[in-house]
Amino acid sequence: MPWKKCPHCQGLSYSAATTHEEWICPYCGRDIQDVPDHVPDKKELEAQRQRPPRQQ
Ligand SMILES: [Zn+2]
Repeated sequence: MPWKKCPHCQGLSYSAATTHEEWICPYCGRDIQDVPDHVPDKKELEAQRQRPPRQQ
């Protein structure tokens, strides 16, 4: 599955929440399109669940 890990805030995001042209981190709002795909392990997915995207 296409995940990316934001190098700025370490947040994980899934491609379903993005467009093809850009990949905006749901946590800090930066464009992480150029970041290589990331395969999260179980621990990371667990941590992700504790950390919902920030509310605007
Ligand atoms: Zn981020």
